[in-house]
Amino acid sequence: MAAIHAENALLPGGLARDVRVTLSDGTIGGVETGVAPVAGDERVEFLLPAVSNVHSHAFQRAMAGLAETRGPADDNFWSWRTQMYRFGLSMGPEHVEAVAAQLYMEMLEAGFSRIGEFHYLHHDKDGAPYVNPAEMSERIAAASVESGIALTLLPVFYAHSDFGGLPPIDGQRRFIHDLDAFARLMERAAGLVADLPGGVLGVAPHSLRAVTGEELAAVQPLANGGPIHMHIAEQTGEVDACLSANGIRPVEWLLENAPVDERWCLIHATHMTEDEAKGVAESGAVVGLCPITEANLGDGIFRASTVLGNGGRFGVGSDSNIEITLSGELRQVEYAQRLSKRLRNVIAPTGGSTGRHLFEHALAGGAAAVGGARGIAPGEAADLLALDHSAVPWVPADKAIDHWIFAEGTRVATVWSGGRRLVENGRHIRRDAIAARFRAAMLDLAGA
Ligand code: ZN
Repeated sequence: MAAIHAENALLPGGLARDVRVTLSDGTIGGVETGVAPVAGDERVEFLLPAVSNVHSHAFQRAMAGLAETRGPADDNFWSWRTQMYRFGLSMGPEHVEAVAAQLYMEMLEAGFSRIGEFHYLHHDKDGAPYVNPAEMSERIAAASVESGIALTLLPVFYAHSDFGGLPPIDGQRRFIHDLDAFARLMERAAGLVADLPGGVLGVAPHSLRAVTGEELAAVQPLANGGPIHMHIAEQTGEVDACLSANGIRPVEWLLENAPVDERWCLIHATHMTEDEAKGVAESGAVVGLCPITEANLGDGIFRASTVLGNGGRFGVGSDSNIEITLSGELRQVEYAQRLSKRLRNVIAPTGGSTGRHLFEHALAGGAAAVGGARGIAPGEAADLLALDHSAVPWVPADKAIDHWIFAEGTRVATVWSGGRRLVENGRHIRRDAIAARFRAAMLDLAGA
């Protein structure tokens, strides 16, 4: 049985020294503290659970850094979306698979061991379904297999361009299903996910813009007990459109009209009143924060104090995949709060480590929203990351997580997903082959 010996580790009960973790068939077999290493143990400096990334649109990694030129008018989310549609419309299945494999490799190198893929690029370039309607889902699954990241596939139901059931616009033609066709896609997706190690299937009604109330009710049972993810209240424009169509704000509408509970992950939930934020916390839903994307797109700032003060939960996702960094996403959660409140150390309770508090929230929220390890404990998935602390030997163990997140002096050295060691010395074990295929796909796209 493989075993890891850590000088320090973050366990559910707190930091511990001289920790020996045995791995058994993808899960953690046993955890001992205060013990010496045994011959053959893998030795690491600082062992943490790896974190589940709750939200990604893999194909958008291809346009990272290519939409940073100011447009002629007010440059906002909606102008970015127009560019994103144009880019998405040019990608074939082979491009999507190559880009997703690169992305998932980068996520593993960052310390994520599972991805919740909110997958909506379903159809061929002209909007017609592929001969195999799950063609694109299969490409996402293949990329997860190649990289080794655990996949929570969240096929997206998308039917309309705006509130009131308006017909989709041409740029959305690759995303669209009716309910019958979507149910057939979900059947195929269930078969696909059943063959993946640790595969999980959920469902993702895209947003209240793209899904009517009746459709939202119809797609929930298709999750079959799995997670339900939805974009909500990312932009003030969306709140205004909901108010004018329904006379009610989006989060308020959702809490009144859908059975929002622990199975739900509300992506962004940026623009909420105090009452909405309390309602989200009390529902048990996880808020899927995407801090770097929300900053990049100028979305706004999450009501952290109200949600967390009322027992609410959050996980982190990389959404547009503009930058792939776990420490950076956690740092941005805190920095957005500091900038808006003109305070320091906002998220942690008095006397607590901000880095550790951010990390533990993202760990618990991520596992609740998409699955994956909840901590280093027997029976949990062997999703682990080891920090290399050697460059900063003067930093004490109880500051190591803060140092990683805020100063980047500590780095992610080793990552396991489901007990498989996929990142060694900071580098994915198949980096060269995956990166070469990504480069070829991107050059092909750029020349197309
Ligand atoms: Zn998103």
